[in-house]
Amino acid sequence: MSVDNNEENNPGISEAPSVKYSNISSLKELIDIASGKNISHYDFQHDSGIAEPLFYPFLGIVGQFEMKLALILTIINPNIGGVLLIGPRGTAKTTSVRGLVDILPFVESSSCQFGCLPEDIELNGIDGVCPECAQKNAENIPFSQLSKVKIIELPLNTNLNSVTGSIDEISNKNNTMHLKRGILSLADKNILYIDEVNLLSNEIINSILDAAAMGKYTVRSSSRSSTFHSRFTLIGSMNPEEGNLRPQIMDRFGLRVVTRGLVNNTDRLEAYFRASHYLSNPYEFIQIYRDENNIARQEIENARKFVWKVKIDSKIAKFGIELIKDLNILSLRAELTLFEAAKALAASENRDQITIEDIKSVAPMALRLRRSSYITNFIENNEAENEEINSSLDKILA
Ligand SMILES: [Zn+2]
Repeated sequence: MSVDNNEENNPGISEAPSVKYSNISSLKELIDIASGKNISHYDFQHDSGIAEPLFYPFLGIVGQFEMKLALILTIINPNIGGVLLIGPRGTAKTTSVRGLVDILPFVESSSCQFGCLPEDIELNGIDGVCPECAQKNAENIPFSQLSKVKIIELPLNTNLNSVTGSIDEISNKNNTMHLKRGILSLADKNILYIDEVNLLSNEIINSILDAAAMGKYTVRSSSRSSTFHSRFTLIGSMNPEEGNLRPQIMDRFGLRVVTRGLVNNTDRLEAYFRASHYLSNPYEFIQIYRDENNIARQEIENARKFVWKVKIDSKIAKFGIELIKDLNILSLRAELTLFEAAKALAASENRDQITIEDIKSVAPMALRLRRSSYITNFIENNEAENEEINSSLDKILA
């Protein structure tokens, strides 16, 4: 990669030539910082060039290492259950998510409106796909293709019909069923991003979380029903100043990252110069990261293919469980997220075994905000009451 600090070509940073893009974070560097380990580089095959629209590059974001690592891990391993980014405005939450577009991998995606994939036939037999795709399968006609993972943003003032889709009643009367695909079905095999997730209605957030957990959902209208695939990675962001998220909903996000403003003066200055360069000449700024984007995308793609091979040794599993027990976390999602995130980290380094270091690296983002003092007190009070009841029984029966 070459960085041009020539004033003529690089107007955004001409005021401070001493500031260089020396600390650009590739995927390798990000993971290095988080785990202190090296991963190997791969040759890149795909070059999608500059994505449109011109979002600020993910790898150009200064600092925010935990947020960047959490986002990358959840792309590598969708079983993590998504990420929730919590923090005040101006801490690069939305910028980071949108910037991912340049490093997203290629995956097999369905060309059918129900989201049928060949893997559904492998898993559930021919009934795992719709009749049309079953027919195509019999005739050896492909019903999927390789395409780059997309980021689908949930519109701010969305309604339940747009989220789930609907069955057109008028067409229904003519005995032809017209389906309107919802955002959840369009997000299948992609990323669904919800900004201000804490401001969504309960009805909508519950339908999204249920669809994400099940990987499919059914839309019903009178006697008709249609089932769509919804295997998406959920990314949410929220500003806690604008309202809380119910603990039950918070628990359903795999990783939780608390974003803060940059504290170091050098970082703040660097962030300012990069933002200024991007605003004055986005095309040129994005070019700086083109090679790193390609490397990161290829590494993520390889890690994603490899992650299912990663195993967890019983000694490491016991260590993880002990940690969760020691922290008094009751939700079983804690183990799931902790181990799946550790697997993604191991996969990013091409290792098929999780280490204690992997667990240590991902524990804060997997386990924070899972404890409830209300539930802990509730259980303690309940146990105290049980003891009182038993001692009363003993006293009276004595
Ligand atoms: Zn189909």
